[in-house]
Amino acid sequence: MNNFVFKNSTKLIFGKGTISSLAAEIPAGRRIMMTYGGGSIKKNGVYDQVKAALSQFSVIEFGGIEPNPTYETLMQAVALAKEHHIDFFLAVGGGSVIDGTKFIVTAMLYNGDPWEFMLNPSKAQHAMPFASVLTLPATGSEMNNGSVISKKATQEKLAFAIAETYPQFSILDPEVTFSLPKRQLANGVVDAYVHVMEQYLTYPSESMIQDRFAEGILSTLIEIGEKVVNDEPDYDLRANFMLSATMALNGFISMGVPQDWATHMIGHELTALFGLDHGVTLAIIEPSLLRATKEYKKTKLLQYADRVWSIKHGTEEERIEAAIDKTEAFYRNLGIKTKLHEYNIDNKSFDTIVDRFAKRGWKLGEKQLITPDVIREILNGCL
Ligand code: NAP
Ligand code: FE
Repeated sequence: MNNFVFKNSTKLIFGKGTISSLAAEIPAGRRIMMTYGGGSIKKNGVYDQVKAALSQFSVIEFGGIEPNPTYETLMQAVALAKEHHIDFFLAVGGGSVIDGTKFIVTAMLYNGDPWEFMLNPSKAQHAMPFASVLTLPATGSEMNNGSVISKKATQEKLAFAIAETYPQFSILDPEVTFSLPKRQLANGVVDAYVHVMEQYLTYPSESMIQDRFAEGILSTLIEIGEKVVNDEPDYDLRANFMLSATMALNGFISMGVPQDWATHMIGHELTALFGLDHGVTLAIIEPSLLRATKEYKKTKLLQYADRVWSIKHGTEEERIEAAIDKTEAFYRNLGIKTKLHEYNIDNKSFDTIVDRFAKRGWKLGEKQLITPDVIREILNGCL
């Protein structure tokens, strides 16, 4: 098993009616910037609940953080926060608002153009305190320190994480997910599923206890995924979905295990170039990536086939193929198309994508075996 350090400083506040506990969690007298997205919180009552809970505080609002939050928009928030001497930030939204807020709180304390630390994450050191009210189970951003930011001007999408970008606390009320459209629910199920896969379907596999936790999250998402997307909202199903997504990417299941993340890295390029939803890019890339890496992931793919999909018969090759097919069918049954041609995307952009990885000198995957040539093979498998 790999050496590891586990520390997660985010306090999780989970359950019905928990937004009202907000005020007790923020030190009195703080000047708060409340960040949010395109307005869903004004339609579903979350905005009113948050404002009521913060009635004793001075609050400046910054709305309009877009899905796949951009540097250009977030820099406006940084300027506004400096002007108003903000000393606490509250993100109210999905992964985009929370990731965007992580960028803002880090940019607040950075000397220079903050895009520098997106290009070179070791440059970022400190962040101002922030917390979140999560409205979309998917990214795990509510309980991790990662942040993915896009730059419109250059069509880039890059990630950073520092020790201080864990939310101080996150409030998760499953009822706020009742207003989510099917598309976002499906994206969220896939994102959470692939977060687990990026940490579970890796080689060598030596963390037996984390394997069992990971398989538990995968099996739960398979059991509830279609119901979450298609049925009328049910509190307990949504609560299980919400907790699954948080547990999928809060550092817990990665204890002692090698991590892949190539599906995410290649997926980010598809979002940057074509604007595809994050979850959609993962559903497209992952099946092809598993096929391209099945030689060295073989032991784990067989374990996955057996334990998660109960595939017991056939040759090793047949069981692996069946498991990948079942995974892809799971995404399709959620309503997500898994091939590039279904989005009218052909192979014209592949040179650009492969060149970007080659220029950055990145080799992806848990064994750094996903070279630019393998990235091209994976992309070809997505057509
Ligand atoms: P999102 O981009 O935050 O939100 C997607 C859409 O859902 C928005 O249009 C939003 O509308 C709407 N929405 C959110 N909550 C809603 C609710 N309760 N009811 C109705 N509509 C609601 O989606 P996301 O999947 O959570 O975040 C995706 C971003 O996170 C991507 O940039 C991805 O790369 C990143 N990501 C981060 C991590 C991480 O570890 N930090 C991991 C994976 C992915 P409004 O804007 O109107 O609110
Ligand atoms: Fe993700």
